[in-house]
Amino acid sequence: MSLDCDIPIITSATEMQHWVDSQRSQGSTIGCVPTMGYLHDGHASLIKAAAKRHPVVIVSIFVNPTQFGPTEDFNRYPRDLARDISVVANAGGTIIFAPTMEDMYPDGPHAPIHINGISDMLEGAMRPTHFDGVATAVSRLFEAMAPDEAFFGQKDLQQTLVIRRLVETSILDVVRNVVINVQPTQREADGLAKSSRNVYLTSQDRDDAPVIYQALMNASRTIMYGETMRTVIERVMRDTLSTIDRLVVEYCVAVEATTLQQKEVFEPGDKIAILIAARLGATRLIDNEVVTYER
Ligand code: AMP
Repeated sequence: MSLDCDIPIITSATEMQHWVDSQRSQGSTIGCVPTMGYLHDGHASLIKAAAKRHPVVIVSIFVNPTQFGPTEDFNRYPRDLARDISVVANAGGTIIFAPTMEDMYPDGPHAPIHINGISDMLEGAMRPTHFDGVATAVSRLFEAMAPDEAFFGQKDLQQTLVIRRLVETSILDVVRNVVINVQPTQREADGLAKSSRNVYLTSQDRDDAPVIYQALMNASRTIMYGETMRTVIERVMRDTLSTIDRLVVEYCVAVEATTLQQKEVFEPGDKIAILIAARLGATRLIDNEVVTYER
């Protein structure tokens, strides 16, 4: 099947705003999918979900330096614009917004927005300033794209909570008016969550990586069978993860899913988020599931 890969790319924020204004004046609603590129099926599922709801879907591609720590993989983060263009076209995207660094950070890369509380735990504790970078970049992207609805993956559950809070607390109408839509995590056949960073995995890493999903599945089953104690749910995950000696666990927790707060005993109706971050060799992997505890 031959597919139209003629996707326009805008690199200037001002030009993006003008383009959005012209689409809106013709009656279009705007969906957007913010990404760092090197697109895979997870991103494609967000683009498809957006295209079902909006005649115009903007996919932003920006490898945001302020969300990487000084020892993280900003420079080696994978990039492939030619392939990204075809993923966007095949998934039903309309246009790519690939802003320059100067457009995103006219005064140099810094991240002035801090969302208190939710930014400071779990991923935020392991990667201080990460969510400041995410919130600052997403706010700026929303200013340029002025979307009606923005699509994010549950794969980055904590990020979705930071962004929801960003939208609730922003003083900018263009940010506050964005509806946040969260879509399910796309996985490989063996359960490994799709991720641009999976390209870093050695073949040994790739063989071992599905243990993270297995740990999440074992904990989910434990909850569905009626377990309510945080410590027991977390122990089930740790026991599964410990079958791979070389996996280094950063965190492995069961928490309330909308606040990520710890709770010793869950109650009927609670949404329980189980989250894991772990290192395999040189690669850091994160994953999560949300399970509703029903008696
Ligand atoms: P990234 O390019 O890694 O910044 O991701 C861009 C968006 O894609 C974020 O909203 C991610 O949560 C989402 N995403 C990444 N991996 C997946 C996945 N496996 N399934 C669904 N969404 C994903």
